[in-house]
Amino acid sequence: MSKSVSINPATGETIASYDRISIQEAISKIEKAQVAFKKWKTTTYAERAKLFYKLADVFEENKEDYAQLATSEMGKTTDQAKKEVEKCAWICRYYAEHSANLLKDVLVDTEASKSYVTYQPLGVILAVMPWNFPFYQVIRFAVPALMAGNTGVLKHASNVQGCAMALEDAMRKAGFPEGVFMNLNLPSDAMESVIAHEHIVAVTLTGSAPAGKSVASIAGKHLKKTVLELGGSDAYIIMADADLEMATDLATQGRLQNNGQTCIAAKRFIVLDAIYDDFLKLFTEKMKRAKMGDPTHKDTLYGPLARLDLREELHQQVEKTIAQGGTLVLGGKIPEGKGAYYPATILADLKPGMEAFDEELFGPVASVIRATNDTEAMALANNSKFGLGAGVITSNKEKGEALALQLEAGNCFVNKLVASDPRLPFGGVKESGYGRELSGYGIKEFVNTKSVWID
Ligand code: NAP
Repeated sequence: MSKSVSINPATGETIASYDRISIQEAISKIEKAQVAFKKWKTTTYAERAKLFYKLADVFEENKEDYAQLATSEMGKTTDQAKKEVEKCAWICRYYAEHSANLLKDVLVDTEASKSYVTYQPLGVILAVMPWNFPFYQVIRFAVPALMAGNTGVLKHASNVQGCAMALEDAMRKAGFPEGVFMNLNLPSDAMESVIAHEHIVAVTLTGSAPAGKSVASIAGKHLKKTVLELGGSDAYIIMADADLEMATDLATQGRLQNNGQTCIAAKRFIVLDAIYDDFLKLFTEKMKRAKMGDPTHKDTLYGPLARLDLREELHQQVEKTIAQGGTLVLGGKIPEGKGAYYPATILADLKPGMEAFDEELFGPVASVIRATNDTEAMALANNSKFGLGAGVITSNKEKGEALALQLEAGNCFVNKLVASDPRLPFGGVKESGYGRELSGYGIKEFVNTKSVWID
């Protein structure tokens, strides 16, 4: 039987290996999820909410263990892993409190004696999830989908199966009925058989654009709905009136948080000519000072990348950009020693057509781009096949808001790093995907929005 292997990216040591399941076993689990759905959908919002309040408690009670597991499987700092677990608890409580209201019937005034819209669950939803926030990404899908009355099966990334099992266990501890949420430890090439199964009614995928295209085309062939949360190459426009301390703090934090592996991380910094040199100097100082190291240590700001192959891919992108004429200002060398470490790196003088401008760089590598005026800055920001997040740093909030409205992205923030929040919808445009997670928009992705007319 094949296995998925968890390797600690800080040390290169194998932590554990987990048996893959066969397609036949996966199908049995899907059938179990369908049986569970028949009962789960008849429960009230209050009954489901009670379980999600309990799940929030389970996350808090096991925060240290879950954080340590995430750190060991994918290398994020333990401090950031704890925050991720706390955010899971927040999502559980948010939807426990608000789902009944978000999904309440909407009366519509027509010629009928009564007409209204009602929201009903669809069935078993398949979630294909990435390793970068191994607890949060799953919870962001599962909580609204299950609160709406669906059941879920998870195909988690192969390198974080320990976290996948911990999530299953957390649901068990919280008292969820059997079959409502299950992990399927399958390789990605087994997805077609799962998606094609008659009981899988829809698929959500968070991951790279190639994975999204593959899953969406299979789902399309079988006429199953998809929601796709894909990659990004978020642009931050640093206006000439920006507070440089704030701009460089945000840029450093944005590029290094989660070891540079966040879909909505600031990746391309488009800086107005008037402050370009000052920005680059201060940003370089701060990136240079940022401490890379053992992710379990308190004073570490960023740890290793999640896997050696990902580091190799990132390094090749950096080298390609330099060969294309980009200037290497900082970093850009693979350090000696164990682990998948990659140093804080700055590439400057970038232009469209260069790798670091056009593609997503998933690691602590910042791309700095010069703009001569506001119009050019906006054109450069929107010159991307991605459209997940984007930001504006300026001391003029009104202008910032006007620019935010022109940015072609799903999440546009002024003077703050883009972050997901259960109260606001989250998702992208262009090759960053479609559909929304979180808020009332997210919970309505996997429901039958039914019109009812009583003549
Ligand atoms: P990935 O390689 O696309 O993998 C994501 C998930 O998809 C994993 O479970 C993976 O399984 C599976 N997968 C990969 N190729 C597949 C295929 N052809 N068919 C079916 N499943 C497939 O992405 P990643 O390296 O884990 O994550 C990094 C990417 O995710 C970045 O591009 C990042 O921007 C994006 N992301 C987006 C969001 C968002 O909210 N928009 C959030 C986080 C990350 P295996 O592990 O078994 O290959």
